[in-house]
Amino acid sequence: MAKKRLPRTEKEWKELLTAEEFRVLRGRGTERPFSGKYVNTKDKGVYVCAGCDNELFSSDFKFDSGSGWPSFCALLSRDKVKMKVDRSRGMSRTEVVCSRCGSHLGHVFDDGTPPTGLRFCINSAGLHFKKKK
Ligand code: FE
Repeated sequence: MAKKRLPRTEKEWKELLTAEEFRVLRGRGTERPFSGKYVNTKDKGVYVCAGCDNELFSSDFKFDSGSGWPSFCALLSRDKVKMKVDRSRGMSRTEVVCSRCGSHLGHVFDDGTPPTGLRFCINSAGLHFKKKK
C-alpha cells in the first residue's frame, strides 16, 4: 500500500494516511511531546517512513533524549532524508524530510549523543516500526 507510486496527490495522501499522520507528514505538524506511540519503544527493528516505507532509522541508534519524541543519533544512511533550514516559529532549525516521498518527519539538533552527537527528533506519527523477527 505505502509503496504506491510517487508523487501522490493530496487526495491519495488523505486516503493512505491517518488524520494524525497526514497532519504531521503533509502539514509539517508536530505531535504533542510524550504522546506518540514510539517514544518509549525499545524493541529491535527498523523505523520506516509512514508515508512510503523508506527505511530511515535502526533501533540501535534510538536513545532516550527525555524530549518526549522518538530520538535517534544516526540515520540508516545519509541519503534517507533531506535536511532543510526551517525558520518557522521564530527559531532556526533543521527540518528532516523523507528523501523518497518528501514528507516532513521532524527536526535534527546537535545536542544528541555519541557517536554522532546528533539528535534526530522525529514524530511517531511519521514512522512505522518493523520489529526484527
Ligand atoms: Fe517517505
